[in-house]
Amino acid sequence: MSEESNENTEKKYTETLGDPTGIEFFPERRGDKIARGWFRTLFVGEGRDNLQKLKCERQVHNVISESPLIKLMMDALKTTGCAIDLNRHISCEPCSKVVTGGYDAEMNQIVVCQNTATSKSAVHGALAHEMVHMFDFCRAHVDFKNVDHLLCTEIRAANLMHCSFMSALVMGTASLIRIKKQHQECVKRKALASVMAVRDLSPEEAKAAMDRVFTKCYNDLEPLGRRLRRNSEDIHRVYRERYLNGYGYS
Ligand SMILES: [Zn+2]
Repeated sequence: MSEESNENTEKKYTETLGDPTGIEFFPERRGDKIARGWFRTLFVGEGRDNLQKLKCERQVHNVISESPLIKLMMDALKTTGCAIDLNRHISCEPCSKVVTGGYDAEMNQIVVCQNTATSKSAVHGALAHEMVHMFDFCRAHVDFKNVDHLLCTEIRAANLMHCSFMSALVMGTASLIRIKKQHQECVKRKALASVMAVRDLSPEEAKAAMDRVFTKCYNDLEPLGRRLRRNSEDIHRVYRERYLNGYGYS
């Protein structure tokens, strides 16, 4: 489980949807090996990459077997008809330094960046976020070329996974109205940053899209049923109650 404050996580964690416009972030997608000089390849590069990959795969495995939140997402995906096969649907790869993970809609595959998501909490954050995209893609056949769809799934990922941990930090010192407002702003900021990383939108276009989809997508809490608060029982409760929401039967 993430032990870092969410403000840090929010700043550090960037990702992109690996559709063709996001491909530059994932140099090894579509089979292109990162170009290297012969010296690095022979003596440093490959060995280090393989070690990174192994470590990353081990982290993924640990997170999946330990985190109730990730287990819940796995159950929800399975119930929706998109069960995750670790070997097929999750891939550790070297990425551009500015991202820690991505979702490749064309391949229906989550990419965990072995060179940037090196801590357990970063791997957890990447998996949790990308699983929301995978869930949306499975459930609603999101068209990642449609800005409204893209923004909607980013709003949901920010809402369900990132920003909810922040509200607890200010709990007790701020009024409920202020917390609610801060939470919505966090979701908007995070979702926009993710969309702008892969789309060349003007501020006006971005604002118009946000106005069109925010309320609907912000209130869509599937498959968790409620926003999570950090340091609360929520994650465990959500996992225990998954049957009430119709997940976890299969
Ligand atoms: Zn995203």
